[in-house]
Amino acid sequence: MQIVKTARALRKQISQWRLHGLTIAFVPTMGNLHAGHLSLVKKAQQLADKVVVSIFVNPLQFNDQSDLSAYPRTLKADTEQLIESQCDLLFTPNQQSIYPEGMDAQTKVFVPNMDDKLCGLHRQGHFDGVATIVLKLLNLVQADVAVFGEKDYQQLLLIKKMVTDLNLAVEIVGAPTCREPNGLAMSSRNQYLTDQQSHVAGELYTTMLSIVEQLVNGNKDFSLLCEQAKDRLMHFGFQPEYVDIRRDDDLELAISDDKEIRIFIAARLGQARLIDNLACNLA
Ligand code: AMP
Repeated sequence: MQIVKTARALRKQISQWRLHGLTIAFVPTMGNLHAGHLSLVKKAQQLADKVVVSIFVNPLQFNDQSDLSAYPRTLKADTEQLIESQCDLLFTPNQQSIYPEGMDAQTKVFVPNMDDKLCGLHRQGHFDGVATIVLKLLNLVQADVAVFGEKDYQQLLLIKKMVTDLNLAVEIVGAPTCREPNGLAMSSRNQYLTDQQSHVAGELYTTMLSIVEQLVNGNKDFSLLCEQAKDRLMHFGFQPEYVDIRRDDDLELAISDDKEIRIFIAARLGQARLIDNLACNLA
């Protein structure tokens, strides 16, 4: 696996691959890799000849400075895992090369209808930071396809919209969420949990499953279901930020005729802010 730190070295390798007619898949990450990230690498390998992974902890998307400083950085272990996964190229730019004039001077991307719901409401400026770094990375890598996790479903839809709206020549592919045996979605932030909290954190998934069960049984009182779910989470020691049932395709609040819907949860448990979502098909 090649490890490159500069845009120039990245572009050189990409153009060589292009010269040989090879296709390229891209997986952007912030590092501290776990099995969820590696499942995206595997999916990328099925979609193209060469796979590029980036590791960059993007300060522009952190609305909380202490969250940014605490974010786990484990480049050595990440590199070993990517070699093991037969990734072709790891791109690890530094902050200076991504934001040479600082973050305030950086041109930013705003994707409409995202900051008024779900994580957009609770993390001001977060999605502008995500859209901006993803556009920069997509422009640098020039991949045919880029893979993103459904774990961050709002982010996945935001990137799909940005790519469509800005006519980018890349296909965005979603990949399913990898979970721990108790249902907890894998996340770099799970390591802020104590052993006891990791055990309890599985209740996030159980709560979503119980909403799905009630929906499938014909309960269409979405707001009551969400309120009951919040009470349940509080009983287990979570501080819920939101529990919402929304339309899968545009994230508007679901109404009783909707078929493709999705449950979204964000909740704090101890030091960790956990997010998760689960699709539910009522067709
Ligand atoms: P991050 O490093 O957290 O920015 O995530 C990088 C990519 O991995 C994003 O596309 C995430 O949606 C995806 N991802 C994170 N956690 C998981 C998971 N548990 N299963 C599948 N994909 C994930």
